[in-house]
Amino acid sequence: MAAFTPRVFSGIQPSGGLTLGNYLGAMKRFVTMQDEGKFETVYCMVDLHAITVWQDPAALTRATRELCAGFIAAGIDPSKSILFNQSQVAEHAQLAWIFNCVARMGWMQRMTQWKDKAGKNSQNASLGLFAYPALMAADILVYHATHVPVGEDQKQHLELTRDIAIKFNNDFGVDFFPETEPVIEGAATRVMSLRDGSKKMSKSDPSDMSRINLTDDADTIAQKIRKARTDPEALPSEVDGLDERPEARNLVNIYAALSETTPDAVLADHGGSQFSAFKPALADLAVDKLAPISTEMSRLMEDPAEIDRILAQGAAQAREIAAPVLKKTYEIVGMVGA
Ligand code: ATP
Ligand code: MG
Repeated sequence: MAAFTPRVFSGIQPSGGLTLGNYLGAMKRFVTMQDEGKFETVYCMVDLHAITVWQDPAALTRATRELCAGFIAAGIDPSKSILFNQSQVAEHAQLAWIFNCVARMGWMQRMTQWKDKAGKNSQNASLGLFAYPALMAADILVYHATHVPVGEDQKQHLELTRDIAIKFNNDFGVDFFPETEPVIEGAATRVMSLRDGSKKMSKSDPSDMSRINLTDDADTIAQKIRKARTDPEALPSEVDGLDERPEARNLVNIYAALSETTPDAVLADHGGSQFSAFKPALADLAVDKLAPISTEMSRLMEDPAEIDRILAQGAAQAREIAAPVLKKTYEIVGMVGA
């Protein structure tokens, strides 16, 4: 395979407010990859993905700015990473069209996110929701990104991204798109709903009690954790004891990720505790870690013009990478004028 610049791309949808799942599964790790300095880092507010389900326009605008504030408050530095919103770099949508013509219907139909989000009434879902993974492949491959940090729920879409890259390279006899590596790491790659240990925490879940939002105040966080569904047993002293206890496992994983340790280490300290003792400890830890982020987000949100300036500058930087990749793609495909 050709040598590609080590480059990270990842995105988050402005489809609601940031959750603890987004923070631990994605954003916190974006910051680590930025600070390690081994990669160029490109991070995106994927507004074109958000509108695959209806979004109120004013709410979308606000959510995009708030997401940008969240990125910066969590530690993304616009002078170190490229930070922008997807719709402002037209090359994403342009490459997505090419990939719509590479990806197969059968591949898309197998996607669990499609099945989950379209639900029983899939005939009434948008065509965009079905094509979502081809746009996601374009988001990544228009930067020739080599690594993509995501939560566990996006693993299947990243496999599809590799399939699209391989099929494109084969169909046209080139070695042009990289086979991107998913980076799914840490104790909280799949944070579960606080109401249902079998469902992932999501910003679009109708129940606000199912998630912790980065903008929740200390009392709300404590209340949501206190009310989180659990079983009546005490915590085990080893992770094997969490088998068949998804809610307990979830709270232990969250504690481990927030305190940057392992579930084993958490259980070494808290094994034998009842939830009546563990939940307040977890709430204190969550407030301790999240309060500075939410305070900084509110401060940044007071100056939307500055956020818009950062996003515009990021889009210009992103275009510098994306435009030549799209041009070369058009040439490979045989388009006159490319
Ligand atoms: P939506 O419900 O609108 O799909 P979401 O909460 O799933 O929102 P996305 O914008 O789809 O958020 O995903 C952004 C990133 O956050 C992705 O990398 C995804 O894997 C990660 N992520 C989302 N939910 C979780 C979770 N519960 N645990 C860990 N990572 C998560
Ligand atoms: Mg999602």
